[in-house]
Amino acid sequence: MVEDLQRIIHTSAARKVDIQGQGGYDLQDGESGQQMYKGKAISRFLSLVDEFGQLLLVTDEEVEKLFGEEVVAALAELGHFDREGGICSSCGGDCCRDMGCELYTTLFKRCPIYDLRPIICRLHFCHRFDAGGKSLVIELRDLFFGCFRAVDFWDSGNLRSLDVPPLAGAPPELMSALLPIMTAVQQGSLDPERAAELIRCQARDYHSKYLRHKSLITPSALQGD
Ligand code: SF4
Ligand code: SF4
Repeated sequence: MVEDLQRIIHTSAARKVDIQGQGGYDLQDGESGQQMYKGKAISRFLSLVDEFGQLLLVTDEEVEKLFGEEVVAALAELGHFDREGGICSSCGGDCCRDMGCELYTTLFKRCPIYDLRPIICRLHFCHRFDAGGKSLVIELRDLFFGCFRAVDFWDSGNLRSLDVPPLAGAPPELMSALLPIMTAVQQGSLDPERAAELIRCQARDYHSKYLRHKSLITPSALQGD
């Protein structure tokens, strides 16, 4: 799976998406009735992407600011399908493993930074979600690639941080705090729950450090539309 993601991200084979929100890519999901306008969401994302101090780790609120309520509604629909079927909880994170995430281990019950997980983790739903709305799954995948592929013509650190593995763009100071915790839990010298808690603390510190730099965030990013 990671090869597929990287191939699509790093080659020009992915579907071309009109970043201005015009053209033939504003599709309606025929299975669920959910409307999600990719072009509009990509355009909104690109208009805000450089107004955030960082986009490696994002909250639910930031996802809504970045992509808009239609995307949030699509995520909620698939999230509901997930909870009802226990889909991700019964899988245990195959996609996290396949993406080579540094924070993946079977020792954790779930992603240790779930509330701050990266954008790729939020927009990716595997084939097990097809019954919940295959076209929504595809739309969200295209949304991610449409946003990330803007890096081909837009020199933006925040765009580059959308890369795979999800923490590939993490600054050394964050990884040097996280990796020893992961090593300790994998070696059995640290309790997994305690390790997850420590990782969460580091992630929150990193996220709030950028929030404290208000000068990096313009009023429009804080207020949304
Ligand atoms: S999206 Fe798919 S592969 Fe990833 S955790 Fe959920 S069920 Fe597993
Ligand atoms: S950061 Fe993303 S890929 Fe890594 S464990 Fe969390 S959800 Fe999975």
